[in-house]
Amino acid sequence: EAKKKGRNRVCWFEEALASETVARRRIELRIREALKDDAFELHFQPVADAQSGKIIGAEALLRLRDVQGSPISPSRFIPIAEQTGLIEEVGEWVLSKGLKQLAQWRAAGKTGLRLAINISGTHFANVNFVERLAARLREHGVPGSALELELTEGVLMVDAEANISTLARIAALGVSLAVDDFGTGYSSLAYLKQLPIHRLKIDRSFVSGLPAHPGDIAITRSILHLAQTFGFEVTAEGVETQAQLDFLREAGCPAVQGYLFSPARSPAEFDAYLNTRGE
Ligand code: C2E
Ligand code: MG
Ligand code: MG
Ligand code: MG
Repeated sequence: EAKKKGRNRVCWFEEALASETVARRRIELRIREALKDDAFELHFQPVADAQSGKIIGAEALLRLRDVQGSPISPSRFIPIAEQTGLIEEVGEWVLSKGLKQLAQWRAAGKTGLRLAINISGTHFANVNFVERLAARLREHGVPGSALELELTEGVLMVDAEANISTLARIAALGVSLAVDDFGTGYSSLAYLKQLPIHRLKIDRSFVSGLPAHPGDIAITRSILHLAQTFGFEVTAEGVETQAQLDFLREAGCPAVQGYLFSPARSPAEFDAYLNTRGE
């Protein structure tokens, strides 16, 4: 009896595995299709100066829908793009689209906006990454200083030696570098003093407990203190409430982004958002 039960469990497990494989394969095909049909969309989430509330930039966030039109979460499709080797093509699409949008904003006089773009480790590791980035900046007539690349700690820690030269070449273009989801990785902090980092992004998981949770308060204050010591900028992610914003302001956090201001928006909605705020 016990043996039979065990076999059923294995069977259930195998079925679950098989359907997950099918689901992933379907998403992979959707990614390929979206690349071919230009069906990805790039949305933009405003980033605000914490003190003045002025919009100082935006983070580009990739959007994909399934054939029925329902959104597929980036947390789902980005890892699949990474594992199937499609992320480089996806990432290049994002860079191209993002820089094109940045050029449009600048042509419309919005020269104060800085655009942040998320870059995957495998994409970043390509030997031609910096060269292609430089060519794209030239192509769109955008100064590197208007662009920021977001990398996670994990990516920065892998092969730190090789990273130093790549990051130096990126810095030479005037492009700045942000550490995304800071504090959620397992990395040593030693890399902070070795790499040309401009910004730490405080992860949403720490902001969510503000202003009440003692642990989140301690972590947030530590990150801000660390940033001050090293001369880094800071953006707090996932700011959803006025109380969180008040705490971050008080604690001296320079920049914020989150649903309190706005979710990621299509380019037209982003422009409308700036207009209604008189920016
Ligand atoms: P991330 O770079 O840390 O982006 C922040 C995520 O938090 C975004 O989720 C954003 O929509 C969400 N968010 C922003 N404010 C709030 C808030 O106040 N509350 C809550 N609950 N969420 C908020 P999204 O767009 O689903 O993206 C998830 C992750 O997927 C990103 O995390 C990033 O790691 C990755 N991703 C998105 N677009 C790209 C891309 O173009 N390239 C790469 N390589 N990764 C991307
Ligand atoms: Mg990010
Ligand atoms: Mg993040
Ligand atoms: Mg994240």
